[in-house]
Amino acid sequence: MNIGVPKEIKNNENRVGITPAGVFELVKNRHTVYIQATAGEGSGFFDADYEAVGAVILPTIEEVYAQSEMIVKVKEPIEEEYPLIREEQVVFTYFHFASSEALTRAMLKSGATCIAYETVEDTDGSLPLLTPMSEVAGRMAIQQGAKYLEKPIKGRGVLLGGVPGVPPGKVLVLGAGTVGMQAAKMAAGLGAHVTILDINMKRLRYVNDIMPSHVVTEFSSEYNIRKHIRTHDLIIGGVLIPGAKAPSLITRDMLTEMRPGTVIVDVAVDQGGCIETTRPTTHEDPTYIIDDVVHYCVANMPGAVPYTSTVALTNVTLSYVLALANNGWEKACRNNPALAKGVNIVNGELTYDGIAEAFGWET
Ligand code: NAD
Repeated sequence: MNIGVPKEIKNNENRVGITPAGVFELVKNRHTVYIQATAGEGSGFFDADYEAVGAVILPTIEEVYAQSEMIVKVKEPIEEEYPLIREEQVVFTYFHFASSEALTRAMLKSGATCIAYETVEDTDGSLPLLTPMSEVAGRMAIQQGAKYLEKPIKGRGVLLGGVPGVPPGKVLVLGAGTVGMQAAKMAAGLGAHVTILDINMKRLRYVNDIMPSHVVTEFSSEYNIRKHIRTHDLIIGGVLIPGAKAPSLITRDMLTEMRPGTVIVDVAVDQGGCIETTRPTTHEDPTYIIDDVVHYCVANMPGAVPYTSTVALTNVTLSYVLALANNGWEKACRNNPALAKGVNIVNGELTYDGIAEAFGWET
C-alpha cells in the first residue's frame, strides 16, 4: 500500500504521524511510505533519517495526499487539507469529530474512510491510542507544577523535594487514572508528599499497593478536597468521566481557602476541567492567576515535548497501521474489534452514533 505522512500544519503542532522506526517496519512489509519534506523535524527526525529506512520524501503536502491510499497523521485535518482528502482514501489520525461539525461535514463530503485514534477501544473499555498522551501529560504536570511553584513566576516559592532540614512540598492529585498515576509517580520520585484522591476504590487499592508510603490515598469527597487544598502546594486535575464534562471538584469559592501561590495544573482542561475557574491556555501563555492561585491549563500538553510524544504515539499506532496496510481496512477491522471501534466514517457515511448524537442529527 502507498502510505502518506504529511507535515502537521495545525498551529504549534510539532509531532509527526510516524517515526523512522515505524517506516522501517512498513517498508519491511513491502509498503511504500511517502513523507512530506521536513515533516519530522519538529520531533527531531530529519528527512535523511526517513530516507535511510526506505521512505520517499515528497516536497509538498499536495503530493503526499495525491500519492497515498492511506494517510497517517497526528491531529485532525484542518481546513486547508479538506480538499486534499478524497474518496476511498483512508485517514488514520486523532479526529475528535464530536467537537467539530465543520470537520465532520468536510470528511463526509470527501468520501474518505476516517479511523479515529481516540475511539479505538479495547474490550476492557480502555483507549490504547489515548493512553500514551495521558502518560505524557501526567508526568509533565509535575514538571510544570514544580516550575510554577517558583517565586519569580508567582508561585509559593516551594521546592517540591525539600532539602535536608526542610519538609518537602505537598502535591494533591485528583483522579488516580493514567494522568493521576503518572503525576503521583513523578511527584513521589522528586520526594514530594503526595495525596491522591479517587472515587474508584479498586483504583485506590492498586495505587496503595504499588506506590511508596509517602503517596497516600483517600476517597474523593468535597470534605476531603476542602481539607487538603488548604495545605497542599500543587494540585493536579486528572479526573475523567468518559463522554461527559469533568465535574468541578474545586469551586471558585474554594480558591480563597488556598494559600497564595498555590499552583493548579488542570490536565482535564480538554474535558472542561475539574476546577470551576479553569479555562484553556496555550504553551505561549500557559498560566493565569485568580485569587493568588496560579492556574496552568494547557489543552495540548504533549505538544511541548514532541519527540517523546511522537515516539510514544508511533509505539501504539504502528501495529494498527501495519494491520490496515497489510490487510486493507475492512479485513483489518474484521480481525480486530478494537480497531473496528475506531471507524467513524466509511466512504463518506457516518458510522459512529456518538458523533450524530453530539450534533443532534438523526441516527
Ligand atoms: P482516566 O480515565 O485514566 O482517569 C480518570 C480518573 O478519574 C478515573 O480513575 C476515575 O475514577 C476518576 N474520577 C472520576 N470522578 C472522580 C471524582 N469525582 N473524584 C476523583 N476522581 C474521579 O483518564 P486519564 O487518561 O487519566 O485522563 C484524565 C484527563 O486528562 C482527561 O480529561 C483527558 O482528556 C485529559 N488529558 C489532557 C491532556 C492535556 O494535554 N491537557 C493530555 C492527555 C489527557
